[in-house]
Amino acid sequence: MAKSAENSSLTSGEVRVRFAPSPTGDLHVGGVRTALFNYLFARHNNGKFLLRIEDTDRKRSTPEAINVILDGLAWLDLLPDEEPVYQSKRIERHIAAAQKMLEDGYAYRCFCTPDELEERRRASGDYMYDRHCLNLTEAEIQQKLADGEKFALRIRVPEGRVSFDDGVHGGMQVACTEIDDFILLRRNGAPTYMLAVVVDDADMGITHVIRGDDHLSNTPKQILIYRALGKRIPEFAHVPLILGKDRKRLSKRHGATSITEYRDAGYLPETMINFLGLLGWSPGDDRDIISRRELIELFDISGIQSKAAVFDDARVRWLNGQYLGMTDYGKVEGKLERLAEDAASAGELTEVPDSKEIKTAWDLLKTRIHFLNDLFTDCRYMFRDPDVYDGKGVRKHFLQNGVVDHLQVLADDFSSLGDFRAASVEAAIRKRAEEWEVSTGKLIHPLRLACSGVTGGPGLFEMLEALGRDTVVRRINNALNWIKSLNNK
Ligand code: GLU
Repeated sequence: MAKSAENSSLTSGEVRVRFAPSPTGDLHVGGVRTALFNYLFARHNNGKFLLRIEDTDRKRSTPEAINVILDGLAWLDLLPDEEPVYQSKRIERHIAAAQKMLEDGYAYRCFCTPDELEERRRASGDYMYDRHCLNLTEAEIQQKLADGEKFALRIRVPEGRVSFDDGVHGGMQVACTEIDDFILLRRNGAPTYMLAVVVDDADMGITHVIRGDDHLSNTPKQILIYRALGKRIPEFAHVPLILGKDRKRLSKRHGATSITEYRDAGYLPETMINFLGLLGWSPGDDRDIISRRELIELFDISGIQSKAAVFDDARVRWLNGQYLGMTDYGKVEGKLERLAEDAASAGELTEVPDSKEIKTAWDLLKTRIHFLNDLFTDCRYMFRDPDVYDGKGVRKHFLQNGVVDHLQVLADDFSSLGDFRAASVEAAIRKRAEEWEVSTGKLIHPLRLACSGVTGGPGLFEMLEALGRDTVVRRINNALNWIKSLNNK
């Protein structure tokens, strides 16, 4: 990155934040939340949200793993404001920074081999580097170099202490005696994460580092590098990890953890933004529903909670239902049509419904389902005649005195109704209930079972209107035949 860009961003006072994932094959919801907090902070402050792919582990960082990150962010509309920065392309910069630290006396060469280090550690029981090579004379160093001995570059930790104000955890202080002379460049010449992250953040003009608090203990070390390089130290905010319900770190054991799984399971991006936005951050009240616009308007680092947030599956599922209920057909039409085709090829549906049928079902059921696909699984009765009837329902609602006669008469009533709107259907049913001196429930339940095969669902009158007269009459007759065949057995 050009030096002028680095300087101008620092002097302009513009907020610049970044999400810095390591491509590991999936995009964890915890990572997405970190990305989202950075994005919200940038938007709130009219700043820039950047992406740095930390792909120095060449074995794990495949193009596929990088695409998983980009696709996941694109799905959530969280793409960065500038081209992504690839850490692996910046190794020369990292090496140059380490060299500068060496020249300026902030780093030194360590010729100790791993075996030597291990042996001395074992003998002393002290795992901090014993500064063996800091005590080499210039002549000894030159001799080792002339002999072609390999070396790592270590930082020379100064005396004193490192203190910083963390946006979430408050004032932090570490005595330098507790910090190891950690490695900047390995014996094979590869920069360490500790060095690369600082050089990259400085070059990218990052003003605020908002990341998982598993990096909290790295921060004092990174501040030492900033100091040595004479770079401005950004503000830090370390976000507590996400826990599962058992209060252990959220992992595969708890269920889906990658954002791709949520997308494929039928969650809407709006749901995930709302859910993750309120996971460990709060606007100061206890609302459940918040839009992206409101998140941007209200987001501040002081609202990030310092205790770990618990990931509640039931809540994200409920929230998705809320968002589906607020979604117009036009927004999901294409997706629903694809899902309908899939459901037909999987045998869930007998044929592919047309767009009008799908819209009718959507308008009726969108406030009751949790996922788009529920329309073609749990609610498939909207598209195909039942071929089985719920067993419990059969005992409760079909095998009662009078049911066959009632259904027969109602089917005839429906055939001759002037119109088949919910209000007319309701009036016809209520009229018969009065006449037969039964509760309307006594008619509603068998009708529902006959027309849907199940015992629960949307309001019956609206459902019958949505199914349409022909379908309703046909299904009642099918059910009557079925009940009669049962009685004849
Ligand atoms: N690549 C690091 C990770 O995925 C993040 C580094 C940082 O945010 O400073 O944990």
